[in-house]
Amino acid sequence: GSGEQTFLFEQNPTRVANSERDALLANPGFGRVFTDHMATIRYSEGRGWHDAKIGPRKAFDLDPSTLVLHYAQEIFEGMKAYRLPDGGATLFRPDANARRFRNSALRLAMAPLPEELFVQSVRELVRIDRDWIPAGEGAALYLRPFMIATEVLLGVKPSAEYLYCVIASSVGSYFKGGAPAITIWVSENYTRAAPGGTGEAKCGGNYAASLAAQAEAMQEGCEQVVFLDAVERRFVEELGGMNVFFGFRDGSLQTPPLTGTILPGITRDSLITLARDMGLTVREEPYAIDQWQADAESGRLTEAFACGTAAVVTPIGKVKGREHSFTIGDGGAGPVASRLKSALLDIQNGRAPDPHGWLDRL
Ligand code: PMP
Repeated sequence: GSGEQTFLFEQNPTRVANSERDALLANPGFGRVFTDHMATIRYSEGRGWHDAKIGPRKAFDLDPSTLVLHYAQEIFEGMKAYRLPDGGATLFRPDANARRFRNSALRLAMAPLPEELFVQSVRELVRIDRDWIPAGEGAALYLRPFMIATEVLLGVKPSAEYLYCVIASSVGSYFKGGAPAITIWVSENYTRAAPGGTGEAKCGGNYAASLAAQAEAMQEGCEQVVFLDAVERRFVEELGGMNVFFGFRDGSLQTPPLTGTILPGITRDSLITLARDMGLTVREEPYAIDQWQADAESGRLTEAFACGTAAVVTPIGKVKGREHSFTIGDGGAGPVASRLKSALLDIQNGRAPDPHGWLDRL
């Protein structure tokens, strides 16, 4: 089947009480406060997509030989619903997440979920759990659509059955403490993705493979890891869960190109558009780590920042590695990062016009 489906609705009989929910929303952190419901849709070869449902959020019952548990045939998305000034709610570019989810499915040899059905499932869940969208700057309802291979079998082959699910989590800002800039660790022992690999797919395996590098970064006192390309070990690719931009004294911006080994971030794409709207030059070109250090030291580079749905725009103040150590600008937030962050948040929170039609009001 394709297109829209009718979702069966089953209300959670043990919903969190309003007072308890409001207490949780006062300080939600990231990824630990969950809403009452979830969306699910099943896929079986021959039958297509079926059994669309919004029901109580609850545990799955999985046979120990369910394929995903062995060969990691799993993909996911990350997006947010925002509260609007009039009390309404909106999604931000859900069609872009739907397209990326479809591309991820194809790369992992999974059944592609029709894009309209992806958007519909997210909309239906947010509508039911809309009281879980927290108010306040930087706060939002984080949505996590994902899909797992559910055929019960130990053969290495694409599953004949899938479970698609959407859960939602009330979130505050991603980096605790609200430091003005993060310090990142250049991974020289590990790479994230090689040409021909799964770097541009949002599959759980990419993140499992990045954890040792992320742990090393934390040990070195850094908040995030930055990966270099797997071939020359020279060009900056992206952070563990964010894309990266470089800002120059001449006012131009640069970000690594989408050559198949980095995740095509929707924030990245939006910031390129917003920067060009502001009249800034944006280049999508490779940038070498040695060049980054030289430009930071000469002052040609004045700022750098990471971006993503969770982190929004996060300035990078310092870069450390076995062979690198440098500070960017004065080590704090740069002016272009601040301008772009405000411009993006103003659109997402309905405080500014939406000239590109990015909001999908519920
Ligand atoms: N790169 C990686 C590896 C990520 O996990 C994410 C978060 N999805 C991003 C970049 C940023 O993508 P987006 O702006 O779509 O959140």
